[in-house]
Amino acid sequence: MILDLQYNEPVFRPPSEANSLILQATLGCSHNRCAFCGMYKMKEFRIRKFEDFRKDVEIVKAEYPGVRRVFLADGDALAVKTPTLQKELRLLYHSFPKLERVTTYANPSNLLHKSDAELKILREEGLKILYLGVETGDEELLARIDKGATRAEVIEAGRKAITAGFELSVTVILGIGGRERSERHARATATILNEIQPHYIGALTLMLGPFEGYFKSQAGEKWAPLERDEFLRELRMLVEGLEMEKECMFRTNHASNYLALGGTLPQDKEALLETIDYALKNPQVLRPEHVRAL
Ligand code: SF4
Repeated sequence: MILDLQYNEPVFRPPSEANSLILQATLGCSHNRCAFCGMYKMKEFRIRKFEDFRKDVEIVKAEYPGVRRVFLADGDALAVKTPTLQKELRLLYHSFPKLERVTTYANPSNLLHKSDAELKILREEGLKILYLGVETGDEELLARIDKGATRAEVIEAGRKAITAGFELSVTVILGIGGRERSERHARATATILNEIQPHYIGALTLMLGPFEGYFKSQAGEKWAPLERDEFLRELRMLVEGLEMEKECMFRTNHASNYLALGGTLPQDKEALLETIDYALKNPQVLRPEHVRAL
């Protein structure tokens, strides 16, 4: 969209930010250790200078002042100090009069490092949705994949974001526990989500690519990948265990998934389960292996 903007590649964004302007407030990820994640392994984490961020905004403003949505990249713009992030948000809303929302990834650690008051300030300045990778609710698995947070810390981080007024979108990863821990992973992931009560849940399917060797060394020697129908059964257990107390969008629309689902919990739970059961009996409706992607 923007011709002269120089990104520090690669750049990632959630599927729901496909129509957003991506601006880099940071490069890389401040944690960068999750065993399943290769997104920023080639980048050294750094917070970009406000001046560099401002120059990017000026470039976009000259070419396309009608921006309505901005996604702050890379891995966790919440690592930026609150006064700087506040300045960046003000700059965005001032520069783009039609701007409706600014969103970013967050990780448990940088959410916990911000005070409640800081989070509230950022929310009031127009940061609206936070995307938090929960991955699993299985305590031991969180440690094995080096998520950098315990189950209790992930819950605290998620609740803290919601209390500050953010819309919270979380992702979990099907198959990350392998065959041995599949049921435990599904059940524990459902309960961690029940404790957090996010606004959006997205389930991805584990795809390792070049990091397979490292992931397996971390996940334990018994770890074995799931087959396609085992992924579906794990997804079924997860959905079955979800008890959402307020409306929550549940999606498996990520390109890594075999089955694209979408519904609002709690009311669509039975319909979601029926669709999974149908897919288990009719595998021809599933996304072919060669079409799946990260
Ligand atoms: S916190 Fe997120 S971006 Fe960073 S390594 Fe983990 S999964 Fe990747």
